[in-house]
Amino acid sequence: MNKRHRLCLVLGDQLSFDLASLQKLDAQCDTVLLVEVMEEASHVPHHPQKIALIFSAMRHFAKALQEQGLQVEYVTLDDPQNSGSVASELRRWQQLLQAEEVHVTECGDWRLEQALKDCGLAIHWHADTRFVCSRAEFGTWAQGKKQLRMEFFYREMRRKSGLLLNGDGSPVGGAWNFDAENRKALPKGVKAPYPVHFSNDAITCDVLALVRARFNHHYGALDDFDYPVTHADAQALWAYFLDYGLAGFGDYQDAMASDEPFLFHARISAALNIGLLDLRQLCSDVEAAYWAHRIPLNAAEGFIRQLIGWREYVRGVYWLKMPDYADGNLFGNSRLLPEFYWTGDTRMNCMGQAIGQSLKHAYAHHIQRLMVTGNFALLAGIAPSQICEWYLAIYMDAFDWVELPNTLGMVMHADGGYLGSKPYCASGQYIKRMSDYCRNCAYKVSESTTDDACPFNSLYWHFLMRHGDLLRSNQRMSMVYKNLDRMTEPKQQALWERGQKLLAKLDAGESL
Ligand code: FAD
Ligand code: SF4
Repeated sequence: MNKRHRLCLVLGDQLSFDLASLQKLDAQCDTVLLVEVMEEASHVPHHPQKIALIFSAMRHFAKALQEQGLQVEYVTLDDPQNSGSVASELRRWQQLLQAEEVHVTECGDWRLEQALKDCGLAIHWHADTRFVCSRAEFGTWAQGKKQLRMEFFYREMRRKSGLLLNGDGSPVGGAWNFDAENRKALPKGVKAPYPVHFSNDAITCDVLALVRARFNHHYGALDDFDYPVTHADAQALWAYFLDYGLAGFGDYQDAMASDEPFLFHARISAALNIGLLDLRQLCSDVEAAYWAHRIPLNAAEGFIRQLIGWREYVRGVYWLKMPDYADGNLFGNSRLLPEFYWTGDTRMNCMGQAIGQSLKHAYAHHIQRLMVTGNFALLAGIAPSQICEWYLAIYMDAFDWVELPNTLGMVMHADGGYLGSKPYCASGQYIKRMSDYCRNCAYKVSESTTDDACPFNSLYWHFLMRHGDLLRSNQRMSMVYKNLDRMTEPKQQALWERGQKLLAKLDAGESL
């Protein structure tokens, strides 16, 4: 092989043409390297559709770079020379090509970045400029703060990006946040847009066959794979959402409905996280749709807040607090994750719906993740590491930097309230209000202590009773504790006993 000057490693979630490390490459003497490795595909049992998405998108990206004239080395999973890990492949290729310099853009996963830092090569690191806020900038913002609040960070990002601002720098519409308007249940007769589909080309079909052969022991279906794997298809998905989904996104952002896995959600997170879409373009398209009077302000502001608020915020927390962040366990939970999370085999209709669609599509929207599967794990006292592994494995868009803070911080409150000011715990009443799930459930949402009572109801009060020492002093929890204190002793006792029974069933390995 000819000696190369630069070797530029591109990871499976770095498939952006404007990736910092890909700039200024010399087609004559530099090489781009992409590797499919077993370690990344199996360190948790990733959903087969997620593995297929990443491998297929990597192969398409490598082809596109070659068509641009760049030298690309691509190592497939089945390559007999494949040594199995990103770090060992990088070392192998540096030696093969005698590359003088090795370039890598910041990873999305602390574990992988550490492995590369420890691999014995002097790597030239590039910042990941696909985010609005750099790791260092977030660190400066967070400095000296005991607890962080997304809302204040978000305002900074609005000012920085200039999105939805008046000429004097004030927020359009007179407020920074219109979330109060975004909590409507889906009324009868309102239909979500039909989900757009993508057909599989020869590259994707090859990858699907590979994944079927090597990962059929992982949970989740492969047959329904229809995600975009190229920049062009990702743009088509985005354009469809702009035309048909975005106007309803604000109003029905928190709604849930039976057999409606996507509602008015964009389904773009996986494409965005692996680099097929550009965050800044998404935000400016949304802003333009608002100025063109095609969408209401609560939809535009709500969507932009998810992207430059929550998404950037969780990334900032992750890089500021890792690796200790992953060990957070405020409530000292140790319960194993019930088997039904992996199979969907439960009589709780809300859980069955959310888990069932996750297994089928590797997708659930935010409220299903937060207020159904996440809420249950919080109330049932599941060990944070167990539930974090489930989210990382099951969702198409799950990468450590975004999954961990959302699950460990937002859902499990295991970081002691650093990311969010209070646990998002709720009884079955919330699920009843925001969905039609309870109508077809084996349990009764109106009951709390009977044998057929909704498990969320007693587990909610059980959670509050067992963690009163940690939560009573939280001002944002004072109302719920007042409600608990107003209950008669026998009522409290009955709720406690029903909760104990349900937890004992989980401990015995039974489904609910
Ligand atoms: P939409 O509802 O249409 O929202 C638009 C975009 O906003 C999303 O594509 C996403 O990029 C961004 N966004 C919205 N909320 C968040 C958030 N809380 N954090 C980061 N970005 C956000 N998102 C991931 O991308 N990867 C994950 O691994 C992930 N794990 C999650 C785990 C839990 C427990 C929870 C509660 C949320 C998690 N989220 C994660 C956030 C959110 O659920 C998904 O981004 C969203 O459901 C993706 O679907 P969508 O593209 O249709 O999003
Ligand atoms: Fe879920 Fe309870 Fe409603 Fe059943 S009754 S769907 S378990 S909230």
